[in-house]
Amino acid sequence: MPDPVRTDEKKCAHQTCTCMVGGERRFCSDYCEDANDSDPTSVCTCDHPGCKSNR
Ligand SMILES: [Zn+2]
Ligand SMILES: [Zn+2]
Repeated sequence: MPDPVRTDEKKCAHQTCTCMVGGERRFCSDYCEDANDSDPTSVCTCDHPGCKSNR
């Protein structure tokens, strides 16, 4: 059984982004939305904690 998670929070739709997104949004930021359009497999370089360390 996976831990119960808040259903209103999910991972950013960008493949390599690990940010959590709440509500209706699919991406944590406009950056991810753009990046997902051009190259969904690119490393997320948005300035969020967690993604920053991925660089
Ligand atoms: Zn990110
Ligand atoms: Zn993101």
